[in-house]
Amino acid sequence: MSFESFIKVNKTISNSYVEEWKKQGKKIVGYYCSYIPEEILVSGGILPFRMRSVEAEGTSRADTILSRFNCSFVRASLDLAMQGKYNFLDGLVVMNSCDHARRMYDIWKYKIIGKLEGIEENFGLFFISLPHIITERGYNWLLEEFTFFKENLEKTYNITISEENLKTAIKTLNENRKLLKEIHKFRILDKPKLNGVEALKLNIATTATPKEISNQVLSSYLQSLKDREGISDYRARLLITGSLIDDPTFLKIIEDVGGLVVSDLLCFGVRNFWDLTPETGDPLESITKRYYEKISCPRMMDDHDRRFKFLQELIKEAKVDGVIGTRIEFCDLNGCECMLYEHELEDLNIPMLSLDRDYFVGDKGRFKTRFEAFIEQIE
Ligand code: SF4
Repeated sequence: MSFESFIKVNKTISNSYVEEWKKQGKKIVGYYCSYIPEEILVSGGILPFRMRSVEAEGTSRADTILSRFNCSFVRASLDLAMQGKYNFLDGLVVMNSCDHARRMYDIWKYKIIGKLEGIEENFGLFFISLPHIITERGYNWLLEEFTFFKENLEKTYNITISEENLKTAIKTLNENRKLLKEIHKFRILDKPKLNGVEALKLNIATTATPKEISNQVLSSYLQSLKDREGISDYRARLLITGSLIDDPTFLKIIEDVGGLVVSDLLCFGVRNFWDLTPETGDPLESITKRYYEKISCPRMMDDHDRRFKFLQELIKEAKVDGVIGTRIEFCDLNGCECMLYEHELEDLNIPMLSLDRDYFVGDKGRFKTRFEAFIEQIE
């Protein structure tokens, strides 16, 4: 797979590699949240495919099922499914990540599977329940959930997942994360070798292509970065956090007015690759430990302090001048989190811009004005 076709993956839902994978008769299972254990899917020879909403132009179909008082990212992804854009999937894993995404389990069960052309009755639908606080009891709960998920996959697709398969998958996923962490180091240089748009495109592509392929592309890309000229014509070094961003054009608005997004705390970004899975001990226990204790999402209620400490480390290592926090309407988890960050960063004299938005970028002018004013304030 060439770098050019890899970096374009972010623009569309399906891609040439998904088509090739299907031609080989192999399974693809979609998932909504970065807490879904990709290792378990990969160990079963299944392609994990992160649900996105890029290509959506509206939510008119989805709104006939899911009220407009729901996250527009989730509604847009449902609208695409109702258009048949996700017909290449053989299954879907949903988690209680937030009150919006979790609805997808019921909606696919009662409104999509066997009702929509191309999504047949034998479509695999899985639910994983993740505790909201980090405790020993919670860890055992999640280990049970992941074990059940593995067994459910084996039954649904008539496959066997051995300990060796799991250990191999852990190595493959860790290699992918290590490559993304190495690339991140080139992003935080005084003269970064890549901008935020490119970094997000890479991260998205790794969630929509087989890890073995993305590892090949990322390792040759990493080599190419060493000879690349650094970026110096920017006005402010920015970190972006808040609700999910799966469309790089949103970051382009910031970078077109002179901001450079040198870091992020996003679930399609740093939060997705920062933590490795231990390669020793029982593989299912190691996978559970990694996902349960990784840099958390605001859905983990008792873990804000650890997230804020990590945010400060990211700000320090990347010499960030200002933070941008965005909240998709009705995304209460990130709304509360950004509000807390705003107060905490004020005490540290680090400027933060908090913005409410819809999933659809729409009126770019409004954002352009806000970002320009924020960058001027920092300058
Ligand atoms: S953006 Fe917020 S509301 Fe939407 S799926 Fe993510 S966490 Fe849930």
